[in-house]
Amino acid sequence: MEGESRRVALVTGSGRGIGLACAEELARRGFDVCLNCSHEGSLERTRKEAERIAQESGRRTHVVVADVAAPDAARAMVDEVVSELGRLDVLVNNAGITRDGLIARMSTEDFDAVIDVNLKGTFNCCKAAAKVMMKQRCGRIINMSSVVGVFGNAGQANYAASKAGVIGITRSLAKELGRRNITVNAVAPGFISTDMTDALTPEQQEAISSRIGLGRFGAPEDVAHLVGFLAGPDASYITGQVIDIDGGLTI
Ligand code: NAP
Repeated sequence: MEGESRRVALVTGSGRGIGLACAEELARRGFDVCLNCSHEGSLERTRKEAERIAQESGRRTHVVVADVAAPDAARAMVDEVVSELGRLDVLVNNAGITRDGLIARMSTEDFDAVIDVNLKGTFNCCKAAAKVMMKQRCGRIINMSSVVGVFGNAGQANYAASKAGVIGITRSLAKELGRRNITVNAVAPGFISTDMTDALTPEQQEAISSRIGLGRFGAPEDVAHLVGFLAGPDASYITGQVIDIDGGLTI
């Protein structure tokens, strides 16, 4: 595919977990994909994943090391996507961290760190990508929220605030950018098996699973399929939505 038919996606935080599954899914659906990891220490692993995806899909891949919490780094990453891959059609704001703790013990540093990556990182990348997409007069932005951003969770005041904020950004940008043919949606996963949830003890995992309709955690691919759909032609009239993908946790 060359010229007009080439499509390019950037997935933040895509060296592992849900982001990696999203990068794979988008490449499978015909996108050239830029992967992103947070620091040099993750670069080699992420590069290997990018090479594997390129081999399996036949699509071009590229890797950028960038801390999404830093506005300059986010801007430079988007510029690099355009210079290396030619354009930017889809941005998946997936990079995220947790620093859990009950409010009495949660430090201001832990609150700020989570807001900086999850919320400001999403803002930084949306701002940089919107500039490119507005010129193109088309684009898709898909933001990774969480059911915790809708319902809250004890011990996650910082994370819940960041993910609720992501929903606010999503709905506002859907209104702001719709006339430029840019859709903006959020995905709100429940519990998905990744490094993030591996931090839970087996007892905690079992207690959570008992509250999930389907009785089990989801897989990163489950979320990636939804992201792939939102990035594709069948989702062109969906914007400003927050779509739960939680195996029935919140019903
Ligand atoms: P994960 O396995 O911990 O992976 C997190 C990814 O984010 C890594 O690739 C990491 O990069 C990247 N990252 C962290 N800080 C970054 C920064 N400052 N700049 C750029 N990249 C950064 O997490 P996950 O479980 O796949 O979660 C992915 C997203 O889904 C997050 O936004 C999370 O909040 C959300 N989510 C997850 C679940 C779940 O149950 N797992 C549920 C709801 C929502 P490195 O590899 O360089 O460290």
